[in-house]
Amino acid sequence: MKIIIKNGRIIDPLSGTDEHADVLIVDDRIEKIKAGIPDKDAHEILDATDCLVLPGLIDMHVHFREPGREDIETIIGGSIVAAKSGFTSVCTMPNTTPVIDNQALVRFIKLEAEKGPINVFPIATITKGSRGEEISEMGELVQGGAVGFSDDGRPIMRSILMRRALEYVRMFDLPIITHSEDLDLSDNGVMNEGATSTFLGLKGIPREAEEVMIARDVILTRLTRGKLHVAHVSSGGSLDIIRRAKDEGINVSCETAPHYFSLTDESIAEQLSLAKMYPPLRTEHDRRAIIEGLRNGIIDVIATDHAPHLENEKKQEIEYSPFGIIGLETAVPLVITILVKENNFSFREAFAKLTCNPSRILNLERGELKTGSVADITVINPDKTVTIDDTFLISKCKNTPFIGRKLYGSVEFTICNGKVVYRSEQGQH
Ligand SMILES: [Zn+2]
Ligand SMILES: [Zn+2]
Repeated sequence: MKIIIKNGRIIDPLSGTDEHADVLIVDDRIEKIKAGIPDKDAHEILDATDCLVLPGLIDMHVHFREPGREDIETIIGGSIVAAKSGFTSVCTMPNTTPVIDNQALVRFIKLEAEKGPINVFPIATITKGSRGEEISEMGELVQGGAVGFSDDGRPIMRSILMRRALEYVRMFDLPIITHSEDLDLSDNGVMNEGATSTFLGLKGIPREAEEVMIARDVILTRLTRGKLHVAHVSSGGSLDIIRRAKDEGINVSCETAPHYFSLTDESIAEQLSLAKMYPPLRTEHDRRAIIEGLRNGIIDVIATDHAPHLENEKKQEIEYSPFGIIGLETAVPLVITILVKENNFSFREAFAKLTCNPSRILNLERGELKTGSVADITVINPDKTVTIDDTFLISKCKNTPFIGRKLYGSVEFTICNGKVVYRSEQGQH
């Protein structure tokens, strides 16, 4: 099988390549990247005029709800949404029912994902049952195919356990991925603690609930020489802690989600529970700090924390509504619109956070666009607009505060392991 992607702008964030050329794919590999590849004996030609041709995007933080809540989202269903959104690889968080804390369950996810269009890399729990009491059988989980460990959805409150976990992962060069929340401080709050929560009369979650846990975990990472990845950073103060840790040479990386560089806690007034997530949306000062953190490299990764919820559950009063929003389908449009168009990021800077950087942290050996590499490729038209509405969103759950927004950045083709797994209607010539 031969596919040619013609006339696109090739951007490979890792090597710094930025040039107009064609890409020849033979079976599941990139055979050649060169201008003017002849059309002869290609089975298919994809027109990428005016488009970026990028390494297949990687989302290292999604929730697909299977096993247990297949009524909300399944591994295959979530994979189809991811392919449509430009992602060729996702990492699934283990807080399903049951949680992914043994090898059979890790294998189940991988087997189920083989029926879908993209690569799915399971993250397994740090502790058995995610109960925060006993470390899971990490060696077996790695053998089954786990690429990292997290009790996401809840923090590891006991410091001694976090110390042990960071010691164990040294054997595998895999990260402990933390949901940084001090439950005593967050204390059932529903939004960021500050002027807006006071004005709205809603219970706040102080930024310190996030920051004290990050501070503890980088200190324990220094002690153990383990590997730490901080999920969903939302506060400028957290970035100060992570910057100091990186300066000291501590093995820490971190991610933020598109909503933290796009929205502030003022969205709660209009969107109510649709803008409820953990950590909560913060202030404009934090939003600016997150954008600067992405620019200066303190933030390594953009991950969506894609968290589907059924409408009747999510649209309850804010106190009862579950935390989280869907993120896959809005990720590329928000990166292009907010980072590239509004804040002058180069495509290379912006998309490093969705390609080579997550690949490096999790040793995925993906996220590169070069001769000989796996043909995972995403083609995006950055100047074409999309409107986030019920027609655009194919996800079964539509819990997003971006509903109604018109944004730049349209995914035209997604190619995974040499197969075209998504093409936009316009791409269907
Ligand atoms: Zn979390
Ligand atoms: Zn999460």
